[in-house]
Amino acid sequence: MSQRLLVIPDGLAEPWSGRGLPTTLASTRPMALDAICRRGAVRRVATTPEGLHPGSEAGLPLLLGWTPSGPVSRGRVDAAAHGLREPPGAVVHRVDVRHDDGRPWPELAEVAFRLLEGSVGEEALHVQRLHGHRMLVFGHTEPVLPHRRDLAEWGAHEGVAGADDPDDVPRLQLWPDGETPMPVLDEKTVVVCAPRSTMAGVARLMGAETVHPRGATGRPGTDVAAKARAATALLRDGTPTVVVHVGSPDEAAHDHDPQAKRLELQKIDRDLLAPLAALALDLGATVAVCPDHGTDPRTGKHSGDPVPAVVWGPGIPRSGPDRMTEESVAGEPVVAGAWDVG
Ligand SMILES: [Zn+2]
Repeated sequence: MSQRLLVIPDGLAEPWSGRGLPTTLASTRPMALDAICRRGAVRRVATTPEGLHPGSEAGLPLLLGWTPSGPVSRGRVDAAAHGLREPPGAVVHRVDVRHDDGRPWPELAEVAFRLLEGSVGEEALHVQRLHGHRMLVFGHTEPVLPHRRDLAEWGAHEGVAGADDPDDVPRLQLWPDGETPMPVLDEKTVVVCAPRSTMAGVARLMGAETVHPRGATGRPGTDVAAKARAATALLRDGTPTVVVHVGSPDEAAHDHDPQAKRLELQKIDRDLLAPLAALALDLGATVAVCPDHGTDPRTGKHSGDPVPAVVWGPGIPRSGPDRMTEESVAGEPVVAGAWDVG
């Protein structure tokens, strides 16, 4: 079997209703991606399993080869991403600190962390702060969260700007414990991604190796070329399956910034897809480009519609539209995975 390269631009797809403003994929002219699409099979991939919320915790394991049957535990994925091991039998919850309207509120995270540590009681095993607005709680049962008013009051007391605004009472979001991605992979799969990312956690739980190039942050401005160099070295070394994850399109969409999302796609096209497509041709490798879900930059919300995707390589007949956009694939078959030709 030929070597395989899977590029996952996180949240790159968008809901398409048949009218309205063009999506990021439709309003950008990614030359390398278009060239791959003209030669490969362009179709839709169902990355969000029936009945699950769209998100990377479901879409990334599915693209790597394990399909969840229920909600995936964000807590366990994040614990793995941070190299933390939960005590045996513990339930793991991720807790986020957010504004009333759902935006992350990292400035309040330290206050929330201390309140949570005090309120989880003797049942709790451990509370761990992650970066930004995120925390992990390892315990025997679901944690009892502090009251929103207490969080606001303490925040104001500690001088956190806006914490005393009665129209923006902070809230804690609890991600329930759930399924753990199964270890169906081994070191023959190497995943290039940002350190401590959801992708890193999923890859480790599934048994793949992870590589984190310097400058890879998962945020807009991330060094995509560094990921391309890492993937090039891995493919030249004969690694059977290389996965490159880029988190920035999703982050730009959560920031409600369509322009930043288009710029991230242009950068992925120029600095990652162009050099890797040339290398894949040289090596006779198969290339797939598939987002893990959609994220609408107008609403900042995830979408679970099947995503436009392409697979190109030796023995794969050219099929489907010339370009990979939500509109162009609307009538194409829906397949179950990134490598399925359809
Ligand atoms: Zn997202």
